[in-house]
Amino acid sequence: MILAREQINRYLRHIIMPEISGPGQKKLLESAVFVCGESIEAAALAIYYLAAAGIGRINCRFETATGFDPLVADIRDLNSDVAIALAGSEDSQFRIFIGSPEFIVRQSENITHDFLPSVIALQNGWKGGIEVCKDPAAAEALLAALGAGQQPAGVGAKEHLLQYGVFARCFSGALSVMEIVKLVLAIGETTDDLLYFNLLSMEFRKSSLQDFSQIVDELCAVKPEDCQETRLENGKVLIVGTGGLGSPAAYALAAAGIGTIGLVDYDVVEISNLNRQILHSASRIGMPKVESAAVFLKRLNPQLTVNVYNTSLTKENVFDILAGYDVVIVAVDNFPARFLLNDACFFAGKPMIDAGVIRFDGSSMTIVTPAGPCYRCTLPKIPSAGNVPSCSETGVLGALPGIMGFIQSAEAAKLLSGQGRLLRGRVVYLDGLFSRFLTLRLNKADNCALCGPKPTIHELQEYEFVCADAAEQTAP
Ligand SMILES: [Zn+2]
Repeated sequence: MILAREQINRYLRHIIMPEISGPGQKKLLESAVFVCGESIEAAALAIYYLAAAGIGRINCRFETATGFDPLVADIRDLNSDVAIALAGSEDSQFRIFIGSPEFIVRQSENITHDFLPSVIALQNGWKGGIEVCKDPAAAEALLAALGAGQQPAGVGAKEHLLQYGVFARCFSGALSVMEIVKLVLAIGETTDDLLYFNLLSMEFRKSSLQDFSQIVDELCAVKPEDCQETRLENGKVLIVGTGGLGSPAAYALAAAGIGTIGLVDYDVVEISNLNRQILHSASRIGMPKVESAAVFLKRLNPQLTVNVYNTSLTKENVFDILAGYDVVIVAVDNFPARFLLNDACFFAGKPMIDAGVIRFDGSSMTIVTPAGPCYRCTLPKIPSAGNVPSCSETGVLGALPGIMGFIQSAEAAKLLSGQGRLLRGRVVYLDGLFSRFLTLRLNKADNCALCGPKPTIHELQEYEFVCADAAEQTAP
């Protein structure tokens, strides 16, 4: 099988990466993955990102399978190269098991029987862990450790999962797909120890044998402070960019019951978006991205108010658009837009959550001024276009912006509900090829021209926008 022209366009951001390239994409298209989820909601994001990445066959099984037909319709519209069905794992090469710790324990038999290399992804509330088990011994050790953990909480945990569990579920879905792509292509390193994550505190670490049981206890227990009343239904979040980062950020916030989402983008849906931009689909190619995204989000959450701004952000319109929102998610891939938003959010007193992705790498930080550092504290000036690679030039693994966009959505929910520890004064980096997260402190710069003690920037500046080839410049 050689790739058809449409497939080359569709998977372009993968094909231009030397680790994937045409033969790698062909291998993805020829592979089959079995996804076993506690519910459709638990597994949906793994399925969307598997389909976007061009995994040829997705065999699914769910403990609770209501709502499978709409998911299948969505997946077929996202990528007709992909076959999806309720089926066993017989003709699969890899498996994903995704759900609560108790669900993983209930699947013990299925995980170890006729063993296949498996991604085990467990979540509870804001927290979770993911491990790639390449042999039965690794799976048995993980299951033994889970069985030894204390019994998960009951009713409270279930109610709690409905809302805040969304972020960890979505996050582990995208993370699982990143691991599957590396397994299929035999590139990089998968996370063969449990990779623990806590989206409430934004901590990520590989577990050692000593802290493994502590992590399991933590995942199985739900603490009262994790279950505070939410105020998400009154929250208004502006998402600038509805591509690779904006899609997952909007998905998770809509699924978590946010009240209002504003979407800003001036682009239209193209086939090369569909390896990662899960809100869009083949039948909506050519439609403005904000409208395509609104169609998806309203279906996901009919109570949601979606405001669309089919325009580019400029210094003339930015304050009017920001005015109606509590939090701004910056999901753009170019520095002029990021600097414009940094400065505008500073003057308007709005918190903003930034992220960037390229190839297998991502980063994210939350900017809450004047207390915390702003973007200019780390990067005083807009870098010249020639010095910065973009996704359109160097590619991006489809699931990568998913992972980072879900981090952004969790930060937005925390800002709105006043919970947890933000990425304020911290930046999280993901080296996806080696499944490593690194969190670094960021300080305010004494000489920052915007937020320092002697500012020289007192109003919005001229931000040099790259307008040529706009369509190719908007990845992620
Ligand atoms: Zn600053």
